[in-house]
Amino acid sequence: MARKIGSRYTAHQILGRGSAGTVWLGEGPEGPVAIKLLREDLAADQELVGRFVQERTALLSLDHARVVGVRDLVVDGNDLALVMDLVRGTDLRTRLDRERRMPPDAAVAVVADIAEGLAAAHAAGIVHRDVKPENVLLDMQGELGPGGSHPALLTDFGIAKLIDTPRRTRATKIIGTPDYLAPEVIEGLPARAAVDIYALATVLYELLAGFTPFGGGHPGAILRRHVTETVVPLPGIPDELWQLLIQCLAKAPASRLRASELAARLRELEPMLTGLPPLDVDEPETEQAPDEPEARADTPEDPPERPRRGAVSLIPGSAPKDSNRDTHTSMRVPAPDELAGGARGTARAPRAHGSPRPGSARNRHSARRRRITFSVAGLVLVAAVGGGVWAAASSGDSGSNEAPPADSNNSAPAQP
Ligand code: ADP
Ligand code: MG
Repeated sequence: MARKIGSRYTAHQILGRGSAGTVWLGEGPEGPVAIKLLREDLAADQELVGRFVQERTALLSLDHARVVGVRDLVVDGNDLALVMDLVRGTDLRTRLDRERRMPPDAAVAVVADIAEGLAAAHAAGIVHRDVKPENVLLDMQGELGPGGSHPALLTDFGIAKLIDTPRRTRATKIIGTPDYLAPEVIEGLPARAAVDIYALATVLYELLAGFTPFGGGHPGAILRRHVTETVVPLPGIPDELWQLLIQCLAKAPASRLRASELAARLRELEPMLTGLPPLDVDEPETEQAPDEPEARADTPEDPPERPRRGAVSLIPGSAPKDSNRDTHTSMRVPAPDELAGGARGTARAPRAHGSPRPGSARNRHSARRRRITFSVAGLVLVAAVGGGVWAAASSGDSGSNEAPPADSNNSAPAQP
């Protein structure tokens, strides 16, 4: 079922489907390529097409070993396609789904690769804005690194920004994937380079723990946790690695490391982590509402379905039917009552293997204390989101990809 894309490319078979469109294995004048054919509704949006064409130079200029290169942009009739380097392998989400947790050396190697790619992008003034396991591709043909990890490459640069037009992102919406969204974005500030560091640190935590630090439950609750909660230490994590992780998960963007520093520090840690097994951590349970029965997870004959992380749609039904992976969840800022409803609180504290569940009877008094705290925190977030996002959307620069010199990472040289 070959299909012509513009005059130079032919799409042969589907490699995967994403939220923005379908990715095909294709052929161009210089050999095999991956072609992302954007969804029809996106391709039919003249304003969006205009922005793609405008951004063409920036998209095509990013050339780095840790970044999936965009080779061409095709606007042809009803088609809008990105022609990319073909990566033969899988994405990091698929590996994580299979393994649940990675050994620390492998996790750190993957994240160091991506930090190097980000350093190059930030040096060029480009912010990714959608760093998450789905957008990390593992090159199975590349040389194996620490812990048997394949070289990792970051894909989908600039796509979040392009789709996040002021018209698509009205005053009440923010864009991103809730689990990886930096607190400053939730508060309505423009996305600078440091949002990518926060998202990448979230990915590192997830690779080590098997779950994201603030994910789980109602999307509004996830947003609130980013703004108000601190990360709970992972049992057994080497201290140097933990310190690095929490510095990059700092609520204040200026406190986070730059991409090049993060890459260098992770590379330094690699030898010390060699051969360590994956951390022995149990996934925390999302708390139940006061009147809900005890979590069904306790019933042995009815094992709970593990929630997918990082693919939560904030608008029910907004994800395309053919996809369970959201690249750019279009998020409605939760209304006060929703935030209150979502503010059941969650015990995100990872449990050491065998310790009691946070929602269990043994822990009920502390759950109640947390509920009270969260209700207050929810109100604070409503105020922050309500004011901040509206201001950002109406000034029209919430989609800015520029990384201004003042607080950005762009003074760091690109990694070779
Ligand atoms: P979206 O970002 O629109 O959700 P993705 O970029 O995640 O879509 O692409 C969907 C799938 O297509 C990926 O999971 C991967 O399997 C495949 N894919 C994407 N880009 C490439 C590429 N450059 N080379 C090979 N496969 C790719
Ligand atoms: Mg993607």
